[in-house]
Amino acid sequence: MQNFNYLEPGSLWEAVGILEGLEGKAFPLAGGTDLVRTFKRIGFREHGVINLKKIPELSGVKFDGQVMSIGALSTVSELLANSEVDEHFPVLAQAARALGTPQIRNLATIGGNLCTSSPASDLAPALLAYQAKIIITGPNGEREVAVNEFFKGPGQNVLDRGEILTRIDLNLPVPGTIGAFLKHGVRKSHEIALVNTAVLIIPVRGSDKIAVARIALGAVGPTPFRAWQAEEQLAGAEGGLPQFEEAAKIAQELASPIDDVRASADYRKHMAGVLVKRALFQAWGGKV
Ligand SMILES: Cc1cc2nc3c(=O)[nH]c(=O)nc-3n(C[C@H](O)[C@H](O)[C@H](O)COP(=O)(O)OP(=O)(O)OC[C@H]3O[C@@H](n4cnc5c(N)ncnc54)[C@H](O)[C@@H]3O)c2cc1C
Repeated sequence: MQNFNYLEPGSLWEAVGILEGLEGKAFPLAGGTDLVRTFKRIGFREHGVINLKKIPELSGVKFDGQVMSIGALSTVSELLANSEVDEHFPVLAQAARALGTPQIRNLATIGGNLCTSSPASDLAPALLAYQAKIIITGPNGEREVAVNEFFKGPGQNVLDRGEILTRIDLNLPVPGTIGAFLKHGVRKSHEIALVNTAVLIIPVRGSDKIAVARIALGAVGPTPFRAWQAEEQLAGAEGGLPQFEEAAKIAQELASPIDDVRASADYRKHMAGVLVKRALFQAWGGKV
C-alpha cells in the first residue's frame, strides 16, 4: 500500500479551499468506484484524497413540487429507493436501474458518475433528456451549467481547479411527458454500454402529434449528447413507427463511436439507430 494524503473536510468551503490549495494534486472522493481504478492506473503517491462524505450540503434528495435537487453524493441506490424520482423522473430511475450491480449502485454517486465524464455514463443521457442543471461550487462561489455544456470529452468536463459538483437540479416535466431509457451491451446486465439512449416525448394534448421530443445518446461519441436534429424532425410530427424510424436514422448519423475490443464502430452506430427507434416506440406505448 502506498502512502497518500487523506483529508476529511466537514464543510463545502473547507473542501474547496483544500482542493484549490493542493493545486490539482488532490481528488475528491465520493463512492470511489471510479477513483480507486484511477489510482490503480496513475498511482496514489503524491496525490491526495479529499473525502466528501462528511459534507452535509452534498447529501440528500429534495423535491419542492417543481424542482428536484439531487445532492452530488446521492448514491444510485438512493435514487432508486426514492419514490418521487420514480414517479416524476422515471427515465432517470430506469437509467439508475441499468447501472452496474447492486454493490456498485450502493457506492456509486450521481456526482461521481458525471465527474468521471465517461462517454458511456448511464445517468448522463437521462439527465440530458431532463435538461438537468449542474450546480458547481468553487473558489469564486457557485455557478450553474446546463448538463449539455458540462462534458468536454472522454474524462473531461468544465470543472475548474478547486471546483466541486454540489447538486443536480431537475425541473418537473410537463404533465403527460412520456419516455424510455434503453441500454445495449455485450452482456444483458453488469455491463458498460456499447450504446445507451434516453428519450422523452411531450405529446400534443388530445392528439397523436408530438409537441417536443428529446433524444440523448451515450457511448457513441466523445461525450454523451443530444441528437438535436432528430428531435427537430419529430417536433410537430405525428407519433408512429415511420416517424420514429426517420428520427432514428438522423440520430444514427450523428453518432461517431470508436472501434474497440468490445464492438466495432459500425456496429455501435447501427445499434444507436436501433435503440433510438425502439426507445421512441416504447415511450409512445408500442412494445418492440
Ligand atoms: C464494476 C463496475 C461497474 C460499473 N458499471 C457502470 C455502469 O453500468 N454504468 C455507469 O454509468 N457506470 C458504471 N460504473 C462506473 C461508476 O460506478 C460510476 O461512474 C459512478 O457513478 C462513479 O461515482 P463514485 O461516487 O464512485 O465516484 P468516485 O469514484 O468517487 O469519483 C469519480 C471521479 O469524480 C470525481 N468526483 C466525484 N464526486 C465529485 C464531486 N462531487 N465534485 C467533483 N469531483 C467529483 C472524483 O475525484 C473522481 O475523479 C461501473 C464501475 C465499476 C467499478
